[in-house]
Amino acid sequence: MSSAELPRVRFAPSPTGYLHVGSARTALFNWLYARSTGGTMVLRIEDTDESRNRPELTDAIFEYLEWLGIDYDEGPLYQSERRERHRKAVQQLLDGDRAYLCDADDNELPGTEMAAGRAVRFRTPEGTTVIDDVIRGEVAVDHTQLGDFVIWRSDGSPTFVLANAVDDADMAITHAIRGEDLLSSTPRAVLVAEALGAAPPIYAHLPLLVNEQRKKLSKRRDDVSLESYRQQGYLASAMANYLALLGWGPRDGVEIRPMAEIIEQFRLEDVNKAPAFFDLAKLEHFNGVYIRGLEPDALLAALAPHLESDQAPWPPERYRPDVVASMIPLVQEKLRTLSDIQRQVDWLFCPDPSMDEKSWDKSVVRGKASVEILDGTIAALADCPWDPDTVKDTVFAVGEAHGVNRSKSQAPVRVAVTGRSVGPPLFEPMVDHLTREEVLRRLQAARSQL
Ligand code: GLU
Repeated sequence: MSSAELPRVRFAPSPTGYLHVGSARTALFNWLYARSTGGTMVLRIEDTDESRNRPELTDAIFEYLEWLGIDYDEGPLYQSERRERHRKAVQQLLDGDRAYLCDADDNELPGTEMAAGRAVRFRTPEGTTVIDDVIRGEVAVDHTQLGDFVIWRSDGSPTFVLANAVDDADMAITHAIRGEDLLSSTPRAVLVAEALGAAPPIYAHLPLLVNEQRKKLSKRRDDVSLESYRQQGYLASAMANYLALLGWGPRDGVEIRPMAEIIEQFRLEDVNKAPAFFDLAKLEHFNGVYIRGLEPDALLAALAPHLESDQAPWPPERYRPDVVASMIPLVQEKLRTLSDIQRQVDWLFCPDPSMDEKSWDKSVVRGKASVEILDGTIAALADCPWDPDTVKDTVFAVGEAHGVNRSKSQAPVRVAVTGRSVGPPLFEPMVDHLTREEVLRRLQAARSQL
């Protein structure tokens, strides 16, 4: 294949200050298509809206594309820098009578001279435009639905459709892969491209992302920014794998797999048009699988921001990375997000872990036996050898003496020491990392609540 035949795709976000999961999916599908065909991926920042033309609004785009591992071969190109080119394209349309000038009251004006305060409308011909969308099939739009639309504003700026169509043509984009919300603008872009003598790209409109109520994901209702998922402790690898499945699936049905395999499996024509459910439970499941697949060192590195954060519940001077490292084999299986690590290890670093009342109610043995069991445990642990096996046997023996089984005798000790009824295996870390005095103090504090 000669390079002239290879696809050229673009991710063309408008700067908003954050990257929406829907935009990330669009970027990913363009990238997958480019990487699976040997084509070229272009990044174009559609920043023609002056009020949004600020560098800090594009930073999140670069940062989160990189986080997901989406690279590009050309760009970033900035649409705002192409104003003169857009003006020339509009002038060309005016000269060919494919467009006309309007005054402030939207009356058509004679002449073809662009000037301040004058808008330009495209002269939509009669007829029908048929878009042969890779995903949606043929979409026919009668031109009466389009009317003569604005391509140049009276403030001297191009409209979205004009800039978008001109840039796709100039950048020789072969495939415009983008969100379904843009489908309604596509016939206009096609008309503009054709009037300029350019071949419009092949369009592929990706299905909407919806929440569990089947409503379009929205910034107001749903958690949609990649930043928020990263902060909660989602791995980029899990997120990218999950995003690839929003509207597409591999023919062999294997969903969790390395990106190299996804690239191999990806076919644009296999994307379906039904709305894609952004399923948080599934994303969390993927994340757990990816966390379990990490080598201990890689997991520790990924956990570090969640442990060394000033949001962590323990005083920073009590935090010990070596203790966390020793906990990895005990907690790796349990983590669904990286931030879950805090709940697994906080009791080792907080001087007095706060007691979860529900856990406590659930865990104490009902009746007066509970007082006797805790008193017995406190007395027995006061002078038994401080090693995990002896401590464990001691706790169980006290329970047995009062007729309760092992899990029932461990439960109040766990809640007293860790603050919760669920967590990593108790005795080893407790004995290795807490002193006898600390454990007894927590048991006594719990006992005084009964
Ligand atoms: N700039 C448009 C947006 O962010 C996308 C344009 C396109 O992909 O054609 O919604």
